[in-house]
This record gives sequence, C-alpha cells and structure tokens, in this order.
Amino acid sequence: MALIDCPSCQKRISSQAKQCSHCKANLDGNSESLVKISHIQKSNSLMTHSIVFLTLLIAGAAMWIWKGEVAQGWQAIMAIVSFSVGVIGYMITRIRIVIHKRKSV
Ligand SMILES: [Zn+2]
Repeated sequence: MALIDCPSCQKRISSQAKQCSHCKANLDGNSESLVKISHIQKSNSLMTHSIVFLTLLIAGAAMWIWKGEVAQGWQAIMAIVSFSVGVIGYMITRIRIVIHKRKSV
C-alpha cells in the first residue's frame, strides 16, 4: 500500500482508497494517474529541497570567505553550521531523489 497526496486537498491518503478520508473527493477509477501525479509532486518537492540545501551550502562557503578574509568568531560558527547543514541536507536529498527515481511508476 502506497501513500499518495489527495489531488484536491493535498493530504496523505492511501492509494487504494476510493474516497479521500479528509475532503471526501472521489478517487475511484483513476488512482493510477493519482500515483503518477503524487510521484511528480514528490520529485518536485525533493528538487526544491536540494536547491534550498545547495543555497545553504554556498551561503556558508561565502560567509566563511567573506571579502577575501577567513571568517572569525560567531560568523565562522554560522558559516560552518550553514555549510554543514547544506552538505548533509544536500547529500540526504540526493539519496532520496535516487531512491525516489527507482520507484518509477
Ligand atoms: Zn482530499
């Protein structure tokens, strides 16, 4: 059983449900296309995540070497935290994208 996003209210529901348990939208007959839509939406959100983490990574690197000088004090901590979160988040998101792509519909 897979979880999909309801096309009308975007809440998580079972792909086997004939009716959305939240908004009562009728899903009978076209659950296959719903799974595809859900898959595309998930891909898009994962792409957005990877862009956010990539921005953090670049921002951290830019903070670290601001105006040609290596950051110090709280700025250095901010830069390291931002860069680390960016790197880890980006890697996790890339792995999630690979796993997600394997589950092709
Ligand atoms: Zn719904």
